[in-house]
Amino acid sequence: MEDTLLMIPGPTTVPKRVLDAMAQPITNHRGALYGEILDETTAMMSEVFQTDNKSYLLTGSGTSAMEAAIANIVEKGDKVINVVGGKFGERLQQLTEVFGGESIEVTVPWGQAADPAEIKRVMEENDDAKALTMIHNESSTAVVNPIKEVGEIMKDYDTLFVVDTVSSLAGDNVQVDGYGLDICLSGSQKCIAAPPGMSAITVSDDAWNVIDKVNSPTYYLDMKKMRKSGEKSQTPYTPSVSMTYAMREALSMVLEEGLDNRIKRHHTGAEATRTAAKALGLELFAREGDYSNTLTGIYLPEGVSDSQLRGTMRDKYQIELAGGQDDLKGKIFRIGHMGITGLHELSMTFTCLEMTLKEFGFEFEAGSSIANLQEAYLKNM
Ligand SMILES: *Cc1c(COP(=O)(O)O)cnc(C)c1O
Repeated sequence: MEDTLLMIPGPTTVPKRVLDAMAQPITNHRGALYGEILDETTAMMSEVFQTDNKSYLLTGSGTSAMEAAIANIVEKGDKVINVVGGKFGERLQQLTEVFGGESIEVTVPWGQAADPAEIKRVMEENDDAKALTMIHNESSTAVVNPIKEVGEIMKDYDTLFVVDTVSSLAGDNVQVDGYGLDICLSGSQKCIAAPPGMSAITVSDDAWNVIDKVNSPTYYLDMKKMRKSGEKSQTPYTPSVSMTYAMREALSMVLEEGLDNRIKRHHTGAEATRTAAKALGLELFAREGDYSNTLTGIYLPEGVSDSQLRGTMRDKYQIELAGGQDDLKGKIFRIGHMGITGLHELSMTFTCLEMTLKEFGFEFEAGSSIANLQEAYLKNM
């Protein structure tokens, strides 16, 4: 297991420093020491979100933060615009409906980014909507959505802009204050490179004004309670103390590397992955120009099945790749290049991918993906 390379869109490889931090003794979550650690961690979280707003840590995977975002603002009958272009967009829509909201769906074809002009049109017709939800980096399709441009449009409306940055924060450009994101949420196990099990959420003043008027049917994810406890450097209920240590260490590593450097490193990894895949004659799933900077979706080549490709990569070469979801099952595979993943990991991945593809009779010039991978890294050096 130790030798398995996680080239999936989360969980990603966790640096030893972070794993070691988790092994520290458990402290009283109502004590002063934990309070200091929590405050330090949420302050770093806000720095990574690029916001002056407070951030909150939730013990629960990214979906718990998605649920917190919706549960605290949506009441029965509220109109919510859900931009849906993949699995995670669907999830925010399902949550909207679970909490009684009336979903107005902006349907985006899988593999494409949302069109800001279309969002503007929908907003003009539905300026009474309480919120608009969007996934920044749609991990099911390996597409990045234009949150900056949409944020610009949303400045003309009272509608809250709710953005999921679970698979992009610390790997791609996310400026909560700069883009005008009212609620932004993320997870521990993707670009931040901590283990799975914790998520984070940050809330603007406008969003708090809405939350304060909502009588939410949620108990565990009540943001008003989180704010109240946060003022005392605590969480409402027992948090994962060990995961707080992990997040503190992982966020320290993000800030030591420098947010801009880290984002640039992710962009390079993404570009290198695309050129390497294309060099083998493989076809990318996402529409050109809409490519994610943290993972890449690739069509399975003719004559090679998902179980052959990913099974061989896993069993023979100890490299985990992700498959397609729903309609994309058996059609695409996905390579995650997020967190601490870089040239080492991608070189191994493409070397073994070439071996695997050759084994199943797919034709290409041996070594061509590696040459292109290296060239992309040299270009961005
Ligand atoms: C991984 C992910 C999530 C959260 O999933 P969890 O399994 O609950 O951590 C949410 N949104 C996106 C875009 C993701 O990639």
